[in-house]
Parts: sequence; structure tokens; C-alpha cells
Amino acid sequence: MSFSSDLLNWYDSRDRGLPWRGERDPYRIWLSEIMLQQTQVETVKGYYARFLAAFPDVAALAAADEEAVLKLWEGLGYYSRARNLHAAARIVAGQLGGAFPPDAEGLRRLPGVGPYAANAIASIAYGEPVPALDGNQARVLARVLAWDAVIKTPFDLLAPALERIPRDRPGDYNQALMDLGALICTPRSPTCEDCPVAGHCRARADGAAREYPRKPAPIAKKEQDRTILLMVMDGGLLARRRPKGLLGGLYEFPAVEGRFDDGASLVEALAQQGFIGVRLIRPLPDAKHVFTHLVWRMGGWLAACDAAPEGFTAVDRAQLAGLPFPSALRVYREIAEEVAETLTR
Ligand code: SF4
Repeated sequence: MSFSSDLLNWYDSRDRGLPWRGERDPYRIWLSEIMLQQTQVETVKGYYARFLAAFPDVAALAAADEEAVLKLWEGLGYYSRARNLHAAARIVAGQLGGAFPPDAEGLRRLPGVGPYAANAIASIAYGEPVPALDGNQARVLARVLAWDAVIKTPFDLLAPALERIPRDRPGDYNQALMDLGALICTPRSPTCEDCPVAGHCRARADGAAREYPRKPAPIAKKEQDRTILLMVMDGGLLARRRPKGLLGGLYEFPAVEGRFDDGASLVEALAQQGFIGVRLIRPLPDAKHVFTHLVWRMGGWLAACDAAPEGFTAVDRAQLAGLPFPSALRVYREIAEEVAETLTR
């Protein structure tokens, strides 16, 4: 049997007790699809029933106050969905004379109806053979096809999805794939042994179900060497507020890009920044901090100087404790507190 026949037989053999299942009214299907976005099925059931009791058709919803719509939506979250729903109902009841657009393309023009929802509604309500491609459906197809490309949007799989969608039951097929993705071919633990389309699945045949969909290669992090200075001046330690950008607004110690094998070149680099009369006292331990796209590999020195560039202030132990430093500098900050304890003004 074909992929779609096996899938539909499984779908026909079970009933999830969903109140919108078997529905053909575009208003009701639209309502359920919008409610189901980012929301658990069990949560939606109660809201769906209450909404339909209050607004049994699109005219009733269009005639309602926005406040009444939002009140009924309370607790479902993502309130822009409710506002869009209300706006779309007014368009359908007004400009469109009470009839929903008759195909996916028209449905997509309604506020809050994206390509996935438009295809889901059109396939279920009108039998239009368009795939309701969301993350779930894309995951199942990526596994069935052992799709090796990284999926940027579920519609990357449009061509193979269109090939498989049966012309006679596209709505049921889409709902069956939604169920399969939600119940069996789940993101982390697909239960292939219970899967009705296991015989068609290449990822399963390769024993590689969890390896699909392919994930993008991790972005290589840029590595940066830095030398951090705990610089004593005027009986305190020098610190300054970082400008805007990475860790902007937090405090830092004097620092130089790069690591230095010999003290003379470090003193020279500090002189170029405006530190005058630098004496290196002792090296400090190395440290590493990993940001999202960047790694700092740090070394450090305890040092003293006679003058510092603008922006740096000499702070004592108590001041140091009150300043916000980034966790990237945690190691040096802890040492700084110990050093500051020993300094007298
Ligand atoms: S066999 Fe496994 S990986 Fe393939 S579709 Fe079924 S559950 Fe998903």
C-alpha cells in the first residue's frame, strides 16, 4: 500500500475525540486552527466549545465587541491571535458578504492566517489538495524521506509533500500527519515500532530516525585572546564602565587584546592605551568565557601604574563590591576583591 493509504487507514481506525474532527464548516475549522497555534489540544477543547457557544457563526463573531472576544480568549495567550480573528471575522462578514474565501490563496489574505493555516483550512473544508506544512509535518516527512538538507522553513518540503497528498482526502491526510507527528513521530522519541508508515520510512530503515530533521551546523565561535590587568593606582584598582555593545554598561578592568609572552610587549601595549609607568607584579590564572558567538581566552596580570587613560577610576574594596561586573570576569573580580582588601589608600 502507498504511504497515504497506510496513514489514512491508521487515522480511520482511531478517534482522538477532537470536537473539530470531521468538521467541514470553514468558520469552525478556522477557529480551531487559530486556537491550536502554540497551544495544547487539551487546553483548546474547552475554549473552542465556549467560543462557539458565544459566537456560533462568523456574523456573531464580527458583531461582538473586541473586549468580549478578548475576554473569552483570556488564558489562551498570544492575544494578537484573538484580535486578528476578530478583524478577519469582520472582513468575512462585511466585505466578503459572509462567505469565507474559497481557497488557500484567498484564506491567506485574512489577518492572522499564514500559509500553514490557510492550507489546513482549505484542505479540510474544501478538499483542496494542499499540504498543511508545519514543523510537525516537516519533521515526519524529513524522516520518511531521510531528507539530508537543513530545513529552513517547513515549506522547503513542499514538492515532496505535494507528491504524496491524496486528491480524494487531503484534509484527512493533513490531519493524519498532524496526529502522527503529535503522537508517534515526536521530536525526541519517535516510537517507530507503532508507526503506521514505518514501512515507507527511510530514516527508520537506516536506524537513524532521531538524526532527522538535520540540524544546522553549529556556528563556529570566534576565539579571542585577552589579557586582563588588575591595575593598582592611587591605592585602589582601576575599573571602568564598558561602552555600548558586548556587555555594555557593565564594568571591566583594563584589558589588552592578545596574550603576551614577554612583559615588555604587554607594557608597550598598555602604554599605547595611555597607561603610564606600568610595573608588572605577578601573573594571574587563566580563565575562559563562552558567549553565544565568541570565546574569550584570558590571561591576567597584577600590575601597578602612575596614570591611566580617561574613563578609568581607582576603586576600593567596598566600591568594587557594589559595581556590576560580567560573569565573564568572575575569576579576576574575585582576585581583585582579595587584592583590594590588602590595599590602603
Ligand atoms: S518510522 Fe519512525 S521516524 Fe519514520 S515516520 Fe514513523 S515514527 Fe517517524
